[in-house]
Amino acid sequence: MPRKPLIAGNWKMNVNHIESVGLVQKLAWALTDLKFDPKKAECLVIPPFTDLRTVQIVIEGDRLPISWGAQDVSEHQNGAYTGDVSADMLVKLGCTYVVIGHSERRQYHNESDRTVNEKSRLALDKALTPIICVGEGLGVRRAGEHVEFTLDQVRGALEDIAADAAAKIVIAYEPVWAIGTGEVATPDDAQEVCGAIREELRTRYGDDVADAVRILYGGSVKASGIVALMVKDDVDGVLVGGASLDPQEFALITRFYESPNS
Ligand code: PEP
Repeated sequence: MPRKPLIAGNWKMNVNHIESVGLVQKLAWALTDLKFDPKKAECLVIPPFTDLRTVQIVIEGDRLPISWGAQDVSEHQNGAYTGDVSADMLVKLGCTYVVIGHSERRQYHNESDRTVNEKSRLALDKALTPIICVGEGLGVRRAGEHVEFTLDQVRGALEDIAADAAAKIVIAYEPVWAIGTGEVATPDDAQEVCGAIREELRTRYGDDVADAVRILYGGSVKASGIVALMVKDDVDGVLVGGASLDPQEFALITRFYESPNS
């Protein structure tokens, strides 16, 4: 089965729940204007926790062709974990995806590969699709160790995850030096690491899993560069930060398959 491209917009800590109504509606209008076909790509928004109920109501109420997910999840089922949000709570809010191990969580909240693995296993148990983020910093890239570094993160994230569950995972390769900096990895850079991740999946789980898992690229993605990325064999979509706050720009990225040169 061909992999359906996934275009995911991570709003990060931007947009309050009142503003989220306008952002989702403007995105939906832009998608309609561009004749977006949800059979050709999946459009996903990833708002802050506090917006999720509002976003759910707007999307479900207007039957918009947009999925929604969360930016993080607790590694614990429930209990005395002040400030955490559980997988069950996200499922109740209609979330189908959750970002795990974003570089900002790894950097500012000291999340390790082990935490990423625990969160991913719990998400999978609850039928939430984890979008597992991996990627190297500038020092590692300059040392030429980016592929091995990233594959180590992938291996850590996948520990004790069986093949049938692994097939449902999404992996996002996000070189840290390209996030929010305006520095975009070249399409060949993205393909090099996304291809290596797929080969790692093939070695670990076999062809069926390797061919099913969607691998995204993320890092300063804009509409102007989307086609060159999406033509790469192992790039199945993008995780977009800044540009996802501009509904017109994000809609253009989502409808990449109709862009000139595609
Ligand atoms: C991100 O937050 O995952 C990201 C890729 O951000 P940006 O597109 O702003 O670089």
